[in-house]
Amino acid sequence: MNANQEQDLGIRVVGLTSGSAAILAISVLWAYWPTAPHPYEETNRITSHLGASGAAAPIGDKESKTDPGDLLVADLEAIGKWTRLDLADIEEAGFDWADVIIPGRWRYGPGRNERHQGFSTYAAAQKRHFDEKRKVIVIRPVGVWPAWLRQQVPVITRYLMLYFRRPVRWEDAQDLPATHRVNGDGTRIHLQYPTSPILDRLVKTLPDDAIAHLGLTAEDLYPSKDWGFVFGMADLDKGVGVVSLARLFPHFWGFVNTPMARRLALVRGLKVITHETGHMLGINHCRAFSCVMSGCTGLAEHDSNPMHLCPLCMAKLAWRLNLKVQRRYRDLAQFFMRQELSDQARWNHNQAVRLADASKRP
Ligand SMILES: [Zn+2]
Ligand SMILES: [Zn+2]
Repeated sequence: MNANQEQDLGIRVVGLTSGSAAILAISVLWAYWPTAPHPYEETNRITSHLGASGAAAPIGDKESKTDPGDLLVADLEAIGKWTRLDLADIEEAGFDWADVIIPGRWRYGPGRNERHQGFSTYAAAQKRHFDEKRKVIVIRPVGVWPAWLRQQVPVITRYLMLYFRRPVRWEDAQDLPATHRVNGDGTRIHLQYPTSPILDRLVKTLPDDAIAHLGLTAEDLYPSKDWGFVFGMADLDKGVGVVSLARLFPHFWGFVNTPMARRLALVRGLKVITHETGHMLGINHCRAFSCVMSGCTGLAEHDSNPMHLCPLCMAKLAWRLNLKVQRRYRDLAQFFMRQELSDQARWNHNQAVRLADASKRP
């Protein structure tokens, strides 16, 4: 794997490319720099800033705003088929177009203005991967799990089952890589582990029935020596990925583990896990909408990305897995109610109601 380093805004931004034609997607590129505000503080600061950013003028960028022009005719046809939405209905239905590109945003970074992955391109690529035997999302713990992570197993399992409507199976843990380095982020000096050996091992142990093989760890990860950390990586061709939940939970930063902090951590963690699983199913970063498949450079942008798939990524997934989309929204609404995430519950409920109404129309 080669690292192409780019310097941007004082943040070292690194793009990784594989040596072969296979694409190694850096799923959640969360560059970290030592002088950054504490992520929880940063979140609060930037979240309020984001509230006003929609009206802010784009900053020095010709392609500052993604607009419906990014969508292709085949995209709109797929969206109409799977989500019953016309172009004119999309915003009213609760979906947002991709935001302006401003410094700090994923697509602002050099080389990050990724190409739009249209529905037809996606479908053509995925047809090469179809394998009827592969139906199960397999999760494999990486390293020893502490109690706080073991407690998340039921909710992670349930969410993935409802989100992708596929069985989820946990396999025996695999060991952490032998190599590591020392990192001082957060409240303690801790070890960080490289992602490549983890992904290589996941490829070797890929079960025959796995449609996605996800490594999940409580340890902090880095993709190469030039990176501060990474929260997740996935390989779009090989169906493997790894997610670290280390930095998403409050105790990493010395915060009290309150119910609110746990809910925030849960939202962040589920978002990374579904983002990586989307990559494992071949979906590229989304550049048309604000979407769970949107790229991000840090917790602030991650927090501003939604938990849901946009209409286009929903159409891709629905086509790929032959999903019952209305039922999926309904089940997710119930899941979020149980987790006391009322905004998410309401949003999914509204989608289910909208689809039910649309199905009554001729
Ligand atoms: Zn990604
Ligand atoms: Zn999307």
